[in-house]
Amino acid sequence: MKTQNDTLLEVQDLTLMYGDRIGCEDISFKLWPGEVLGIVGESGSGKSTLLNCISAHQKPTRGTVSYNTRLEGMKSVYGMIEPERRLLMRTDWAFVHQSARDGLRMNVSAGANIGERLMAIGNRHYGDIRQNAETWLEKVEISAERLDDLPTTFSGGMQQRLQIARNLVTGPRLVFMDEPTGGLDVSVQARLLDLLRGLVRTFGLSVVLVTHDLAVARLLSNRLMVMQKGRVIEHGLTDQVLDDPQHAYTQLLVSSILQT
Ligand code: ADP
Ligand code: MG
Repeated sequence: MKTQNDTLLEVQDLTLMYGDRIGCEDISFKLWPGEVLGIVGESGSGKSTLLNCISAHQKPTRGTVSYNTRLEGMKSVYGMIEPERRLLMRTDWAFVHQSARDGLRMNVSAGANIGERLMAIGNRHYGDIRQNAETWLEKVEISAERLDDLPTTFSGGMQQRLQIARNLVTGPRLVFMDEPTGGLDVSVQARLLDLLRGLVRTFGLSVVLVTHDLAVARLLSNRLMVMQKGRVIEHGLTDQVLDDPQHAYTQLLVSSILQT
């Protein structure tokens, strides 16, 4: 049985209003270490709003997000002082954006994109940083020879892989991903999905993954939450939810993917 201490992240009654418009409403769940939680739903259902709130990018209107910190156990993320939250966000946490442009610095080299994350957590040895950056390029299937090249010279799939390397080099425990394969060609998506699945397994990462693509959710996530109009309408093991959806909206989502 799981105990309270096993929880990595706990979200309670999370709500974000954009004026009188609902972004996400009354959302509660727990995430266990090593688990991949998928958040699915059509465009506008509140997935990104929820992800931004739990990853400390957008302060919720009400509700709490608690994280099991290495030193002090469960702590309210929005109750932390700003430097503590910032430190958490660049050490224990990582965030992979849909668009590599939002997650990379396009005007510095691939190596610097990875290296500056190491410097941000106190690494100062140039040779080590460079070596580590090369290793990480190869882990995401980019030739180390591209170390000094700008991300602008990379294909879309390579940029996304570089963004993943930049995020994982610091050894985070919890990774947030917002449509990580969105906007890429299908064959490029498939390769990226394979890579992501391997990295999640190798490093035992805990992931909160937002996607509108049920095939992506099926491949990567252990558990699924289905959102509609800002609320979670169905929640369960991925296979259960996709093979035997209970809610009419989920049934519709699942059947529309089967038809395409
Ligand atoms: P998803 O990621 O599932 O497409 P979003 O979280 O982006 O959904 O949006 C959820 C709802 O909140 C939508 O109705 C959207 O129009 C609204 N919304 C999102 N961002 C803003 C914003 N900055 N200002 C006002 N409304 C917003
Ligand atoms: Mg979104």
